[in-house]
Amino acid sequence: MPRNSLVNQVILIIIDDVRASHLFDLIKQKKLPNIAQLAESGISCQNCITSFPSITFPCYSNIVIGSYSGYFSIEGSGIPMYHWVGRTDPPSEGKRFPIIRNCGKGSHIRKFNSDFGPNCQTIFEQAGEGNFLSSLNLLNRGSVMIPPIEYTTQSILKGVEEIYKDPKKIFSNKEVPKVTVAYIPKTDDLMHKKGFSHPKYINEIIKCDESIGLIIKMLKEKGYFDSTAIGIISDHGNYKTEKLYDIEPYFKEKGLMQYLPRKGIGDFDASFGSVGFFNFPGKDWHHHPTTKQLKEFIPSGSGKSKLNLFETLWKIPGVKLMYYRDDNNTPDKGIIYLEQRNEKSGKISKNIIEYEGHGKNQRTKYIIDEKDLYKYEDYEESAVLLDNKAHNIDEWLEGTNKIDFPMIVDQIPRYFKNPRSCDIMISTIGEYGFGYEHGMSMPHSPYSHDIGLKKSMTVPFIIGGSLNIPSTELSYCKTTDMVPTLLDLLGEKPHFSVVGKSVFKY
Ligand SMILES: [Zn+2]
Repeated sequence: MPRNSLVNQVILIIIDDVRASHLFDLIKQKKLPNIAQLAESGISCQNCITSFPSITFPCYSNIVIGSYSGYFSIEGSGIPMYHWVGRTDPPSEGKRFPIIRNCGKGSHIRKFNSDFGPNCQTIFEQAGEGNFLSSLNLLNRGSVMIPPIEYTTQSILKGVEEIYKDPKKIFSNKEVPKVTVAYIPKTDDLMHKKGFSHPKYINEIIKCDESIGLIIKMLKEKGYFDSTAIGIISDHGNYKTEKLYDIEPYFKEKGLMQYLPRKGIGDFDASFGSVGFFNFPGKDWHHHPTTKQLKEFIPSGSGKSKLNLFETLWKIPGVKLMYYRDDNNTPDKGIIYLEQRNEKSGKISKNIIEYEGHGKNQRTKYIIDEKDLYKYEDYEESAVLLDNKAHNIDEWLEGTNKIDFPMIVDQIPRYFKNPRSCDIMISTIGEYGFGYEHGMSMPHSPYSHDIGLKKSMTVPFIIGGSLNIPSTELSYCKTTDMVPTLLDLLGEKPHFSVVGKSVFKY
């Protein structure tokens, strides 16, 4: 046990798709007594800001590594989204065509650990010597993964309990795991299908609490409770969209054909909830297009007539924001353009984000041309950041954690730096849901997550258990702080790639 450690073991439970205010409301209603006890006796934050876009992958993977998407040849996870086109920088010419990764498919989910960049580390790889356990944790590099007997919340958490009771089942040295990560997907499934107010969704969170109660009971019986920290977090919040719209016929009408990676043909690939991620070929599919190429695009199904893709995407109902990168960007330095359309006048206002540096050293500047899209000017705490100077993630978090689009000026370049990111991102900010992926509109519900609004970006952050954990309530933090805080409790130092920081340093 390292000299500075406050605990010997940590157990991190990631409950998919739980908005902070919803969880803490359930605590107030006394429906989650076990989570409540952990929060009251330990560290608790009702305002933990997740990554943008607020989608399971990257948000979940970012929690497990304490970092973000990034330019993965140098830093970051390399996972920009749950759906992406596998382009590289420099482009891998002469190789086969870039793949499409779609984490909605089971076979693709298993490739996560290999998609993951070499310049970041899971909590297991950062925690020194010991046994490491994953229970349905998809990002499990450096740990032993136990598959659940059933894919239920109870079974996934029961797995953790069983290994603590009898570690020699999987660990020959018979020691309990130093780090355990369990992932609960069922809550997300119910949120999409039924919504965040539905009794079945709420009941699933209650089931989580009951299973956590059983883990606490077991830890007490076995004498581990006083030396264990239990972390509870979610990957993102959620929202209900106002309107659903089938966009598939529009792309057909424009002559835009779906990219087929086996053949290397096609005009575009997109996934589009309320935020749309559009990929187009440059001189071929290995290359990202230039702005000029995007303005003079010739779709396969349109004869020879040119299409301005920016104008084409602005015509999609409800689109309010558009992002794209400058042609001269490098991983070290660059510009992201962000534009907003006034729905009444149709007028487009332009702003830019400048970035420099990597990982925790990234600095970003938000330059407003005429209209501040994020309304940062309206609040004293965020307005001070509009000083034409570059700021780091902690400054953005401090200034914008209470309003919509928290920390987004920091997050956008971390996404666009990744060569696997899209070429044009658009958003209806939750007004429309399209449920579009790989050339098709899928059956979808109005309940989703992906946007930069506070309700989709704010999750609970709780660490409790051992009485050695100081009792603290934080007014804000970020999801990438979870891993460095747990490592701090274990007396271990985070990997250089970690962007989050121990909450004891706030
Ligand atoms: Zn999720």
